[in-house]
Amino acid sequence: MKIENPKGTRDFTPPEMSQRKRVEDAVKKVLDSFGYEEVSTPIFEYAELFEVKSGSDIKERMYVFDDKGGRKLCLRPELTASVCRMYANELKNSPKPLRLYYSGPMFRYEEPQRGRYREFYQIGVELLGACGAMADAEAVCLACECLETLGLKYRLELGSIKILRGLLGELDISGAKQDKVIALLDEGRRDELKELTDDETLLTLIGLKGGVEEIEKARKLLEGFDEPLKAVEELGEIAGILDGAGVSFTVDFSIARGLEYYTGLVFEVRVEGLGAQNQICGGGRYDNLVELFGGPATPAVGFAFGFDRVCEALKEQGVKTGEVEETVIVAPVGEDACGYALQAAGFLRRELSGSGIKVKTEITGRKLKKVLEYASDSGAGFVVIVGGKEKDENTVTLRDMKAKTQETISVSEAAERLLD
Ligand code: AMP
Repeated sequence: MKIENPKGTRDFTPPEMSQRKRVEDAVKKVLDSFGYEEVSTPIFEYAELFEVKSGSDIKERMYVFDDKGGRKLCLRPELTASVCRMYANELKNSPKPLRLYYSGPMFRYEEPQRGRYREFYQIGVELLGACGAMADAEAVCLACECLETLGLKYRLELGSIKILRGLLGELDISGAKQDKVIALLDEGRRDELKELTDDETLLTLIGLKGGVEEIEKARKLLEGFDEPLKAVEELGEIAGILDGAGVSFTVDFSIARGLEYYTGLVFEVRVEGLGAQNQICGGGRYDNLVELFGGPATPAVGFAFGFDRVCEALKEQGVKTGEVEETVIVAPVGEDACGYALQAAGFLRRELSGSGIKVKTEITGRKLKKVLEYASDSGAGFVVIVGGKEKDENTVTLRDMKAKTQETISVSEAAERLLD
């Protein structure tokens, strides 16, 4: 009976997992270095956690089900809401600002295509308890630093949902209609947007895209509209700090983001070579979510990398993600040497720990010739041969598979050679 994996999910083979792990480790190292701490939340949650503020797009795509106790649950479609719930319930008294990150699978019922899956992975960051341009700038800088460390070429785009919602409010477009306008903008469905509003100021605003000078254009365009104008000043301040930090970006006033909880800055990162699904990161400021889950008013900003897309972009751009790891095979020759082989393998693992070298023991009892064939087929660089003679003399025979040479030495000397 052959059973396929469900549509929109993937299996990851050992080489794929090894690349994903290297990329994940590299990103986490950067997050650690900025003082962010890892958290973990459940894979399934009460559906209402995401229904209140995640936006219609996500709501429609959620995997919702009743458990045997009749609870309405869902597989998590994103993690910002979960982290805010955790913060409201358990972390609200921590010293602020609180810097958190997470990684893991998310689930959305999407039409699968390259870069778009039903089970996909995110690494995300939430900076809680800090308002103001410096906090926003830190989140953006952190996203950029991760991508710089990975060696990816990318484009950063900044916008502001506060400007958009502020203007829509002044135009008396509010509630569900406002959310609809934002969703259409997020999905790039501008023709349908025009059916909802033909306001010239709005249509001009969402056409503004370019360098920092676009902020000045928006300032002029929005003269007389108090709230959106204030938001333009805020975006200008963030842009000024990022400019000063040497971060390159484009300003795009049409960025809306599908998630309804954003309240200020919104940003996206895109890369070449991934076709339509080229957005590898999205984020922004969300100042009301913690309060919505019963916590104290807590300003916050965060972002999430689409981890699958980051890995695909690295492959697409030909970026090498770390060294190929070395493997050593310890092979007993004859039954008498089996215990000694395990002992030697254990010693080597301890001596080589932290080096990334893997020590496998030969366990099938096959002839040495076959072991050497296996070593060369599986890319092992060395075989440590231990027979009765080696056992009696407390030595091992270290065979270099590439050079096709071997020498009989002590186990400690073998460890030193392997570390060279
Ligand atoms: P969001 O949680 O919608 O703000 O998305 C954040 C990032 O997750 C996006 O920029 C994408 O890179 C990635 N992403 C979102 N949905 C999917 C999906 N269905 N498959 C793969 N990546 C996704």
